[in-house]
Amino acid sequence: MIRHVAALAMLLGIANPVQGSVAQAADAPYAPLTIPLHIEQVPNAPVWYSIGNPGIPGKDNEGNTSNAGFVVTSDGVAVFDALGTPSLGWALLQQIEKTTGKPVRYVIASHYHADHVYGLQAFKDHTAALIVAQEQAGDYKVNEETADERAEQRLDQRRGVLFPWVDEKTRVVPPDIAFKERMTIALGDRRLTLLFAGPAHSSSDMMMMVEPDGVLFAGDIVQNGRIPFMNSDDVSTTHWLKALDEVEKLHPKFIIPGHGVASTRAAEAIAFTRDYIQYVRDAMAKAVRDWTDFDAAYAQADWSKYKDMPAFASNNRGNAYRIYLELEQSQFKGDKK
Ligand SMILES: [Zn+2]
Repeated sequence: MIRHVAALAMLLGIANPVQGSVAQAADAPYAPLTIPLHIEQVPNAPVWYSIGNPGIPGKDNEGNTSNAGFVVTSDGVAVFDALGTPSLGWALLQQIEKTTGKPVRYVIASHYHADHVYGLQAFKDHTAALIVAQEQAGDYKVNEETADERAEQRLDQRRGVLFPWVDEKTRVVPPDIAFKERMTIALGDRRLTLLFAGPAHSSSDMMMMVEPDGVLFAGDIVQNGRIPFMNSDDVSTTHWLKALDEVEKLHPKFIIPGHGVASTRAAEAIAFTRDYIQYVRDAMAKAVRDWTDFDAAYAQADWSKYKDMPAFASNNRGNAYRIYLELEQSQFKGDKK
């Protein structure tokens, strides 16, 4: 009977006071959200994920534009990414509490971009979890010149567009554990393999494979049905394409991208990202070869295949420009050899 009551409480989403370590929603320490998280479970696996809204962070989506997830093992929970505000991180923590009474052991950050890491604050302040990231993530705060985003500038921007969910108390929480190429976490009955895949979308890109389930959290290396953001100094589309080949070799049974739709058809999600990068590269490569200036090249290119997709307006032109520069630079290097 007691077991039934506990099961019912879980079904109803009532936190178990014995196992629960997180305060109730009424005590929410961050500005409340009006749009609930969209949570789904991977079929036949103890893995749940939150799917963000398409588009870029703003008041309309309350900053919920990225995906995140968590793995429930026999020895606690591992979280992958923490969403784009402390409020969203808190909502994810509440969801974990509803799903299982087990403590959060690790929070793994796919890369240090605002839309994935501002939620770390909720985990740092309300759990004993260790935050894990690839070692380049450490650049995010200490070396703003080489960081993917100017951390302070980005925080100011988000305090403007995402207030009250990002406010003067919001801070970027650094990793507790950093790894270089690969790290395996044996947690209860699950094995989590963290793989460095950058620099591609950012300097610190990594992916997490959950075994034996074959579920891959791909971070922003894979984006499905949404135009990825590539306009930063650390983007290397050459490495990015190689990283996509690596993802494919893992033969994931289920893929959860950093943005966009999760899928059992991993190959399709990978192909979407690869096709987009290749398409922009081809368009810009011709321009670089012909010494066409960027504005003319951009105007001449046919964008009809992508122009109606989420984040096209905000990301595509910058992406094309970044790729133009990358190709121009590699042509210059090639010429010197
Ligand atoms: Zn992202």
